[in-house]
Amino acid sequence: MPDLPERALVDGHGRRITYARISVTDRCNLRCVYCMPEDQAFRPLPHLMTRAEIARAARLLASLGVTKVRLTGGEPTTRPDLAGIVSDLSAIGFPGGIALSTNGVLFPRVARELLAAGLTRVNISLDAAEAEHFRKMARRDHFEPVAESIRLSLELPFESVKLNAVVIRGFNEGEVVRLAAWTADRALSVRFIEFMPFGDNSWKTEDFVGWEEMKGWLEAAGYVLTPVEKDPVSGPADEYRVSSAAGAHRGTIGFITPVSDRFCDSCNRMRLTQDGFLKGCLFGHRDVDLLRPMRRGASEEELLALVEEAARTKEEKHPMFLGMSRLSLPLHSRNMSEVGG
Ligand code: SAM
Ligand code: SF4
Repeated sequence: MPDLPERALVDGHGRRITYARISVTDRCNLRCVYCMPEDQAFRPLPHLMTRAEIARAARLLASLGVTKVRLTGGEPTTRPDLAGIVSDLSAIGFPGGIALSTNGVLFPRVARELLAAGLTRVNISLDAAEAEHFRKMARRDHFEPVAESIRLSLELPFESVKLNAVVIRGFNEGEVVRLAAWTADRALSVRFIEFMPFGDNSWKTEDFVGWEEMKGWLEAAGYVLTPVEKDPVSGPADEYRVSSAAGAHRGTIGFITPVSDRFCDSCNRMRLTQDGFLKGCLFGHRDVDLLRPMRRGASEEELLALVEEAARTKEEKHPMFLGMSRLSLPLHSRNMSEVGG
């Protein structure tokens, strides 16, 4: 294990926090059925962290040993100062990389600027391989720019390009095999995400598809999946090399399994919401307010103590796994876009 910085962030269960996901906005130009309602209300702009506040929070996290950061939302590319935020993070220095989660709609317009500012990795969300199913999932007609984002990201020298697809029964089961086929000749990691209950996204047991069923669909379609040894800091996906009638694929396939709970034990992350709350767990309820103390003039030491408090009170597992059946899954009070996915 590398030397710990003078003050390392270790949670109450002995896990070291090295990865932060920072949400920069709750706004979005899509309305994915699993994420936000058509009439989603957004926070007033003054409630969101400014570029300077994001940089200050990131410096606190870096000084406590966070090495990798991801910008998310809402849709981060709807923020006009996104490249500035990336260049601030780049100046702070995150050796594990600066990543972006995006829906890809505006990404082609800003990709080169973000790359020049220091962005190293891109995750693009896409739940369907063609326009009609895309519209059903995203409630908007923007398939083409998203497909262009994937082409462009693979051309530009990003360290990795990943595609994330949420799978919902009755909406896009058929897309699993179609999206997986994209790995044949592209250096793309396509990851299928289990649908999670959130806010008012009307999650129902019947809509849920577990990773084993998705894997079964791929195998039935002739894909052979071989597990890739897991890098402990790479994130929650279980990755597989793929081969099919087309031969060995250039890309890989992964499953992100928050509902089947296969990754809490190795969780190394903390989240910062766009309105400045630290969250140890996506499903947690013990948020620590960092932004209001910052705005009230709290000292560096006081702010560091708040980050440490958020780590200390991080949940051991998603609360929904502590003795609850799937039918009694608690719905989180915020949507995914408001927590920062
Ligand atoms: N707008 C960006 C995007 O879509 O990539 C970043 C924010 S989005 C909230 C981050 C990720 O959360 C996306 O991959 C999205 O598919 C996923 N997500 C949102 N709601 C979800 C849900 N209910 N279950 C599983 N994944 C969800
Ligand atoms: Fe927007 Fe991303 Fe949520 Fe879809 S998943 S509505 S793109 S924030």
